[in-house]
Amino acid sequence: MPCTFILSPQAHHPNNLHAFGFTKCQMLANADFRVAFVLVYLSKSPLFASILPSTFNSLLFLARATRMLTSAIFIGLAAAACATAHPTNPEAESRQQTGLATVYSSCKVKGDVALTFDDGPWVYLNQISDTLKAAGAVGTFFFNGNNYGCIYDAEDRKRVKYAYAQGHMIGSHTWAHKDLKTLTYDQIHDEMWRVEQALQRIIGVTPAFMRPPYGNYNNLVRQVASTRNQSLVIWDFDSGDSVGASVAESETRYNGVVSKHPETLLALNHETYNTTAHQVLPYAISKLQGAGYRLVSLATCLGLPAYHSIGTPATPDSTWKC
Ligand SMILES: [Zn+2]
Repeated sequence: MPCTFILSPQAHHPNNLHAFGFTKCQMLANADFRVAFVLVYLSKSPLFASILPSTFNSLLFLARATRMLTSAIFIGLAAAACATAHPTNPEAESRQQTGLATVYSSCKVKGDVALTFDDGPWVYLNQISDTLKAAGAVGTFFFNGNNYGCIYDAEDRKRVKYAYAQGHMIGSHTWAHKDLKTLTYDQIHDEMWRVEQALQRIIGVTPAFMRPPYGNYNNLVRQVASTRNQSLVIWDFDSGDSVGASVAESETRYNGVVSKHPETLLALNHETYNTTAHQVLPYAISKLQGAGYRLVSLATCLGLPAYHSIGTPATPDSTWKC
């Protein structure tokens, strides 16, 4: 796992840290990272510069500079230790440099199509899963925790397990389908970690990808996602099912995009519509496979792992609730 600085209040809880697989060196580095951030900010502010000449503030500066130097040395040592222990990949390095999660809006592997389905788990999930499987296709499901249903309900847990067991990819669509752009730093963390925890409990995986509800995000969302080691995923094609497109209109949209022969496609669908499950999906599969595309998971079409960890599901208890 690449080294990550964690700033989440929830993630500071030791149980959560362990649940998300972070290491001691990451936990250690985080505390002083914030101190250094404040000091670097102070050192650059015009106000700070203007008061620098006074004797009192000179002493203050000296004290702060000493602390900053200590912090910098500490961070340097911690980062070196992390780098030694956890060789990073280019994407993770880029994320650490910018502090913003990567946002993917298209597939990378030529000839690949990723059919993605949001807003579940819901009653059509097994049908969609079966239809994909029968066609030799792999789908990607971005689950909510508490949207159409509660992910901890027995039926929804079964659906999540079923889709995962059939080889489909599972990602996060956050807990309650809120517009993340309207939330605070802590609220965004909350929306994200609840689903990550639910997926760890139900199927034993830590997802690597999150699709923000409505496709809405800002730099704060990317910042939080980065600290959670999550990449964001949008799309480059919308079947239109969630914005009122009829079956004929969705089929026309698939026809239109296939006729343009894009190298790849990252398609947005919603598993919560009967028409998507029973009419549009079979049509889209046939159309896309007929045009020679491979229907693969998002991770496959990006050439990246779908999960940060794969473990054993937990046993339900009274804390499994929405
Ligand atoms: Zn959604």
